[in-house]
Amino acid sequence: MKKTVLIIEDEARIAEWVKTYFERAGFHAEVCSDGKRGLQAAQTLSPDIIILDLMLPGLSGVEVCQELRMNSDVPILMVTAKGAYQDRITGLDIGADDYIVKPFNPEELVARANAVLRRAQKAVQKTITCGPVSLNLNTQTVHLTGIEVPLSAAQFCLLKTFMQHPNQVLSRNQLIEMAFDGNFDGFDRAIDTHIRRLRKVLHYEVHQPIQTVYSMGYKYVVAEEQA
Ligand code: CA
Repeated sequence: MKKTVLIIEDEARIAEWVKTYFERAGFHAEVCSDGKRGLQAAQTLSPDIIILDLMLPGLSGVEVCQELRMNSDVPILMVTAKGAYQDRITGLDIGADDYIVKPFNPEELVARANAVLRRAQKAVQKTITCGPVSLNLNTQTVHLTGIEVPLSAAQFCLLKTFMQHPNQVLSRNQLIEMAFDGNFDGFDRAIDTHIRRLRKVLHYEVHQPIQTVYSMGYKYVVAEEQA
């Protein structure tokens, strides 16, 4: 699906030029020529990223950014005038993700926008999925083929560690270290009890993902195309 970029820029020539470059890079681009309309468009369009000029008539870029940040994490790349250092600092302080200085190379602007988008995507990636198992780090829930399965906190931490290291042999000590930061209440064999329970929960038709590697530990086996 095409990503939407909202360009808030009052200089029509620059706005069109930037729009063209984003469209060439595969974006859907919308232009707003003042802060107020830009703010409205940000709400109605829910763009993936906003290119925000700071020198705008009516509502300034700084005000637009402040308003947006009250209820949105949308990536914002601001455009500042040459030499306006204070604007850049203010912009970053109030939550812009990056800035570019006029006059700029539009290819650089698009490259920076893509970098900001990649960072934003990483930050929201709070789900780990391996085959039919999906683990949500925010809600601390696990779904198996879409159905939530109940797990204890310890089992959740263990499963998270396994899913973050698919197809790797992990010793009991490594599991304790990674899943519980070494703060594990019990002997390392108590891990086996948790794993037995996890296995029961994860028992699904094709194969059991948690496999014992004799005298070494455990391995969470995921088919290549699912890893
Ligand atoms: Ca301007």
